[in-house]
Amino acid sequence: MTAPSDLDRGDTAALSDDIVYPAMIPFILVHLACFAAIWTGVYWQDVLLAVGLYIARMFGITGGYHRYFSHRSYKTGRVMQFLLAFLAESSAQRGALWWAAKHRHHHKYSDTPMDVHSPKQKGFFYSHLGWIFTPKHDKADYRGIGDLTKFPELVWLDKHYYVPPIVMGTVVWFLAGWSGLVVGFLWSTVALYHATFCINSLAHVMGRRRYLTGDDSRNNWALAIATLGEGWHNNHHAYQSSVRQGFRWWEVDVSYYIIKAMSWVGLVWDIHEPPASVVRNEQRLGTKVIETAAAQLAASFQVEKLTAQVREALAHTPTLAEIEERVRQASETAKVRVESLVAHIHLPHIPTTDELRQRAAKMFVRTPSMDDIVERARQILIANVCSGLAVKPA
Ligand SMILES: [Zn+2]
Ligand SMILES: [Zn+2]
Repeated sequence: MTAPSDLDRGDTAALSDDIVYPAMIPFILVHLACFAAIWTGVYWQDVLLAVGLYIARMFGITGGYHRYFSHRSYKTGRVMQFLLAFLAESSAQRGALWWAAKHRHHHKYSDTPMDVHSPKQKGFFYSHLGWIFTPKHDKADYRGIGDLTKFPELVWLDKHYYVPPIVMGTVVWFLAGWSGLVVGFLWSTVALYHATFCINSLAHVMGRRRYLTGDDSRNNWALAIATLGEGWHNNHHAYQSSVRQGFRWWEVDVSYYIIKAMSWVGLVWDIHEPPASVVRNEQRLGTKVIETAAAQLAASFQVEKLTAQVREALAHTPTLAEIEERVRQASETAKVRVESLVAHIHLPHIPTTDELRQRAAKMFVRTPSMDDIVERARQILIANVCSGLAVKPA
């Protein structure tokens, strides 16, 4: 059994998240090796093999790495669990434990500066693949995946993540020759890379949002087809523990169909379906999403400008006591001056709840928690203006 010290349990926060370009060389070589098809030739059997290996290994990633290891959306036995990890690892996308650790972190901090791969924070290239080649993300913090590290065989497989792709490549070469290796294995491996990476990059940029999730996740049907269902990424961010990601009948989710079929023959069980209230978008949001959306809504107003307006108005507004005092003075001229003063008091305008609601309706998709968001956003806005007032202008 692997000693705990062999696991990287440490905090990776101190490590750099800058891309180390030389680390990309093996990855680039895999891409270049695809051109060896010029010499091996391309036969229809190899193309069929590529399609088969693509579908099988994509299921390993979506049904295994994602829906099982990262989200535990269904249960299975120890042997099946190992086979899923092996199948997914044969796609040369690191180990199941590394994948799950990074992915759980992604959901915890989606599209915030802490996110592992957010196109909003670090751009498309970084979120697509750059992040993988950084010292920070080469390592994974295994403290959040104790449910997986308790299996020594998974720890071993994760540590020796290069074994499954080498075994699969060798078997393919042995059975299908050089053209099988290049076209069947390498072409499908490269296609798997980019289809999977698109979920981290494109599925947070392009597509429609049905649910308010506090992040930029989208539903994208083209990606859903290419990744056997993962393109329903906004659905997934809205309810992560669901085994199915296509919530409506027309949202094609091949991984779900496969898992469902596996449950019929007893290979997997306890598959977790989304509640009807979630599918119908009638579920109230959690505090984390409400807080994030409220902060986004409050930030859409210019707090500095509002603060400056309030400060300006307060500086030129007499207090009630001052007004009363002047009115009490008998002089007619004083009264006239006070009346004109009162007439010209112009208090600055803090956005009303209705104005916030109108803006929220433009910014966010429908949610039963809209009033909570608006209420919280107004609190944040007023608090921000008040703390702005506490700071003396330069
Ligand atoms: Zn995501
Ligand atoms: Zn996920």
